Amino acid sequence: KLHNTILELKGNIRVFCRVRPLLPDESCNAEGKFISYPTSMETSGRGIDLTQGGQKHSFTFDKVFTPDTSQEEVFVEISQLVQSALDGYKVCIFAYGQTGSGKTYTMMGRPGHPGEKGLIPRSLEQIFQTRQSLEPQGWKYELQVSMLEIYNETIRDLLSTNRSSLDVTRVENGTPGKQYTIKHDANGNTHVSDLTVVDVQSAKEVAFLLNQAAHSRSVGKTQMNEQSSRSHFVFTLRIYGVNESTDQQVQGVLNLIDLAGSERLSKSGSTGDRLRETQVCKAIQAINKSLSSLSDVIFALAKKEDHVPYRNSKLTYLLQPCLGGDSKTLMFVNISPEPSSVGESLCSLRFASRVN
Ligand code: ADP
Ligand code: MG
Repeated sequence: KLHNTILELKGNIRVFCRVRPLLPDESCNAEGKFISYPTSMETSGRGIDLTQGGQKHSFTFDKVFTPDTSQEEVFVEISQLVQSALDGYKVCIFAYGQTGSGKTYTMMGRPGHPGEKGLIPRSLEQIFQTRQSLEPQGWKYELQVSMLEIYNETIRDLLSTNRSSLDVTRVENGTPGKQYTIKHDANGNTHVSDLTVVDVQSAKEVAFLLNQAAHSRSVGKTQMNEQSSRSHFVFTLRIYGVNESTDQQVQGVLNLIDLAGSERLSKSGSTGDRLRETQVCKAIQAINKSLSSLSDVIFALAKKEDHVPYRNSKLTYLLQPCLGGDSKTLMFVNISPEPSSVGESLCSLRFASRVN
């Protein structure tokens, strides 16, 4: 009973914190001394303490993953959530954090290291496996993938074959060739006009599309001379299931989102002054409208407010049917262990603990 009440109060939003390990070239400081971990951070199952300027800050999340947690161990914790998309739920999993904190590692994994696949490829593998295992019970699933990027409140289709040569140039000249208008229908389904949607039959096909999307992202960036860390990557899998023997139907959605970096533009001003830090955190969020709107939406949902400001940005409007209601949301807060990132890490932890 108590458990239920807690779930109800918190809604369907959960927050997992993940601290990445120090990278080989980070393990020594400027004087060549080895930095031992944790110098300024301590983690336990649900808690994380961060010390800055002699002051200790403590936070609690639904789970805290330490630097030695493997990709497989992380996936074990989210596999049920992924599964619920096959049961007809709308699911969003976000990675939030400063650039270099491990968002893309968590979502996609490490290129060239198949054992370190992230949760997008792992989720797809699980979904295709489950689809096969449900076939004998009469279930047939159609799966559709789309991938887009939001940069500066502009949507870019990452699977459009002529995207790089046509759309980007037109957007640059101020006359967008494609509109990518977001519409929600009465059934809570989202349609983005002109967006490429691909029917997929295997995890391999999705892996191929993910490669295509990565290529589109890098081409677009070079052409528009933009900073990669300032864009949001949205992977969407739509699931349509029918059981011909029982006449049941399900429609689920799985959104996996690698958010833009949450950092301020330059690494300065971590004074430890509490008021100032709060102001700095707010300034960071103002840099990216979709990022700040996302936090507004998530806080409104967490606090069960009547008005949820979905319409304030492209990202929140796109995901509206998948945020709130009986949908399920998980936010990864990625944290870098570098001592020079303590200021940013504090901002990320404060942001995330407001959700919890
Ligand atoms: P972000 O996407 O937040 O900018 P990345 O995911 O690119 O950060 O991570 C930065 C670097 O740290 C990459 O080289 C990545 O491979 C590495 N990294 C991140 N998280 C981990 C982890 N848990 N274990 C090992 N290496 C990691
Ligand atoms: Mg990244």
